Amino acid sequence: MKQPLIFDGHNDLLLKVQRAGGLSALSDYMEGGPGHLDLPKAKAGGFGGGFFAIYVPSASNADVDDLEVRDPPYDLPLPDAIGWEDAMTVAMSQFAVLLRLEEQGGLKIARTAREIPEIMAQCKVAAIAHMEGAEAIDPDFETLEVLYAAGLRSLGPVWSRPTIYGHGVPFRFPSDGDIGPGLTDHGVRLVRRCDEMGVMIDLSHLNEAGFWDVARHSTKPLVATHSNAHALSASARNLTDKQLDAIAETDGMVGLNFATAFLREDGRMDADTPLDTMLRHLDHLMSRLGEDRVGFGSDFDGAMVPAEIGDVSGLPALRKAMMDHGYDAALLEKLCHRNWVRVLEASWGH
Ligand SMILES: [Zn+2]
Repeated sequence: MKQPLIFDGHNDLLLKVQRAGGLSALSDYMEGGPGHLDLPKAKAGGFGGGFFAIYVPSASNADVDDLEVRDPPYDLPLPDAIGWEDAMTVAMSQFAVLLRLEEQGGLKIARTAREIPEIMAQCKVAAIAHMEGAEAIDPDFETLEVLYAAGLRSLGPVWSRPTIYGHGVPFRFPSDGDIGPGLTDHGVRLVRRCDEMGVMIDLSHLNEAGFWDVARHSTKPLVATHSNAHALSASARNLTDKQLDAIAETDGMVGLNFATAFLREDGRMDADTPLDTMLRHLDHLMSRLGEDRVGFGSDFDGAMVPAEIGDVSGLPALRKAMMDHGYDAALLEKLCHRNWVRVLEASWGH
C-alpha cells in the first residue's frame, strides 16, 4: 500500500535556517543538515509539506530551550513584547529564506488549498507561509497587505508573549489557558481583516479569553495548528474539551503537536515517550472533533519529539503505529493530509 504523505500544521525550519546563517545556509535544507526537517529527510519520511512558521525569537530567549531542563511543575515567565521594527527585520529575513528555497526548487508555496495536493503530486514539498505571532504586523495592516501578496496565508495573533493584538499562554504545567484578558480592539480588527483577505487565524498559543474572542468575531472554522488535548496533558498550551467542542461546531481543525511536553500526562519534556501517547491524543481529539477535524502539527525543529520518530525521516514509524492501532487507509489519509486541505479550502475560500 502506498503510504499517504503527511502535510503538517507547524515547523520552525525558517528560524533554524536563519540562525544558521539565513540565505547562506540554504544547503542545510536543500542537501540535508542538522535538526528535524530538510529535503532529503522529507523524501525519506513521506513529508508532503506544511505550515512554515515565520517566528521572531525573544532576545532573552526564555523560551522553549529552557523547558528542556525543567521538571514539572514549571511556570516560565513570558518574554517581553517585541517592537514592530525589530520584528519586521527578523520576519523579512525568514520570509526571504522561504522564497529563496522556493526559487531553488526545495518547496513550493501554496496560495490556494487546491494547490496543496497538486504540489504534493509533483513530489514537491507544499509550504504554507505562516506567521507565529503578529509582532511584524502594523495596526494599519499595511505589512499584512504586502505579506499576503508575498504568500502569507496563516497568522497567529500571538506566540505566547503579548502583542498589540492579544495575549498568549505561558509555558506552564499544570495549568489551563485561562490566563489574562482577551483580544484587544486591534486584535478584533485583525481577525476581521484576516477573514476578509483569506488569511487563516491560528489559535495555538492564544489564551482562553482570546480563543473565545476569535470564536465570537470570526466567521471561519476555528483552527489550532499545533496543540493537544488538555484532558490528557494539562499544559496551558493544550485545548480543553470545551474548546475542542467549539472547534467541532465550526467544522475547524486541530493539528497534533509532537512536543513531548504537550503529549505526556506528567508534562515532562522527554524523548523517551512511546508513540502510544500520541495515539491516545488522536483518539481523544477524534472523540470530540470527529475523523474529519484532526491532523498533525509536529513542531519539527521547534520541540523535542518522541525518539521513535526522531525527525521527519521517522514519520513512517508514526504511520505504522496508526495502522497497528487499527486506523484504516481512509482514516490514515484524512489524518495525514486530507483534513488540512479540507479546512484550508473552507478557511481561505475558493
Ligand atoms: Zn508554537
